[in-house]
Amino acid sequence: MTKPVVTRFAPSPTGYLHIGGGRTALFNWLYAKRTGGIMLLRIEDTDRERSTQAAVDAILDGLTWLGLTWEGEPISQFQRAERHAEVARGLVAAGKAYYCYCTPQDLEIMREEAKSAGRPPRYDGRWRDRDPAEAPAGVKPAIRIKAPLDGETVIDDQVQGRVVFPNKDLDDFIILRSDGTPTYMHAVVVDDHDMGVTHIIRGDDHLTNAARQAIIYGALGWDIPVMAHIPLIHGPDGAKLSKRHGALGVDAYRAMGYLPAALRNYLVRLGWAHGDAEILSTDEMVDLFDLGGIGRSPSRFDFAKLENLNGHYIRTTPDAELLEHVEILLGHMGEAGAALKAKLDADGRARLLAAMPGLKERAKTLLELIDGAAFLFADRPLPLDDKAAALLDDTGRASLAALQQRLSGLADWSAQSTEAAVRAYAEEAGMKLGKVAQPLRAALTGRTTSPPIFDVLAVLGRDESLARIADAA
Ligand code: GLU
Repeated sequence: MTKPVVTRFAPSPTGYLHIGGGRTALFNWLYAKRTGGIMLLRIEDTDRERSTQAAVDAILDGLTWLGLTWEGEPISQFQRAERHAEVARGLVAAGKAYYCYCTPQDLEIMREEAKSAGRPPRYDGRWRDRDPAEAPAGVKPAIRIKAPLDGETVIDDQVQGRVVFPNKDLDDFIILRSDGTPTYMHAVVVDDHDMGVTHIIRGDDHLTNAARQAIIYGALGWDIPVMAHIPLIHGPDGAKLSKRHGALGVDAYRAMGYLPAALRNYLVRLGWAHGDAEILSTDEMVDLFDLGGIGRSPSRFDFAKLENLNGHYIRTTPDAELLEHVEILLGHMGEAGAALKAKLDADGRARLLAAMPGLKERAKTLLELIDGAAFLFADRPLPLDDKAAALLDDTGRASLAALQQRLSGLADWSAQSTEAAVRAYAEEAGMKLGKVAQPLRAALTGRTTSPPIFDVLAVLGRDESLARIADAA
């Protein structure tokens, strides 16, 4: 029987959940889902200076918003330091690692000598076979792994293929520092093993680490998990993704009004392909995801593509669900968000829901949708933008006054009845419908673009519509 798949996402909590980290998490989550396995979450918080609880919270929040779930409690790498030390000492006992008593000064001299001889600055193995009885007094030793002196270390990577590292390039690196804390390289191996991780899917900036980790696995006699190193995301200009390109936190994408489903779809396509399919629901991704579909060249981040996808998801998401996303977003928008949220009582929500079909056709982001909905909740007299104000000249105001008359006589108020009344007026006055509708739009929304005008009348209702028209006339 093959072992059930266990993947893991292992972020370092030194900042928000970076968009590249979000993609790594998504791939691990998808692979686990696809294979009926599980994804674990390990917080790599051994760097005590740079790791913060705020960053841990931001990562959990970002993953949760993205809809990526993990099994059990997040595991703290720092909490496992004693286990890491115990494994390192076990390697010494087994003759696979050794105590190195070099002082920082010794190492500095070693580096200088290598430099002047034109050699790369590698540890020279001076304590590898030395009798510990020769240990200088008062020096706390570090533990170094006995790396193979010749031959090759090979990583059979699911994405990168067979990657060969000549062992002469890998020195006896430290696994436990002289202060007893594990190095990152060592902690990752011990944790992945203890957590039962079967597949390591991560950025290809960790590929050279994989070679060193393979040496530790070898020394411990442990199986190396399947590895898949994904090319990093680049900006549209081909350079490594930076802030300038949109290398922001997942929370920034939420704040820009993207839907999690759209971001998942965008991120999965950023490095993975299934034929030409661009739009993939999460269920489809789970059905189709495989490591073989991950490309070897870095993909480029493209905001226009993300916006288009987001527009698609906004149009196809059920109205009530969209309303929930709007409310989540408002909760992250500070005062402006709180002000609008306060208006979403039962009445306000009903009004927004009624307007949703018209609003969602016009929005590529939730921010655009919220902006388009502003007229629903605006206080009278409505603020007008410049273009709208220009429509309310003498002619515009005169036609509004006439419309006000007609509309107030309507027995029933709906998109159909108001449309019939406005059309009848335009015909009698010998004006094109647009000529009549534009000042009406300005009066009702304060803008020159909005959902279809008769829907606007219906959503606002008789009293509010007539009052806005009267204000403008
Ligand atoms: N903590 C590492 C990072 O955030 C990931 C290490 C790993 O996946 O092995 O880049």
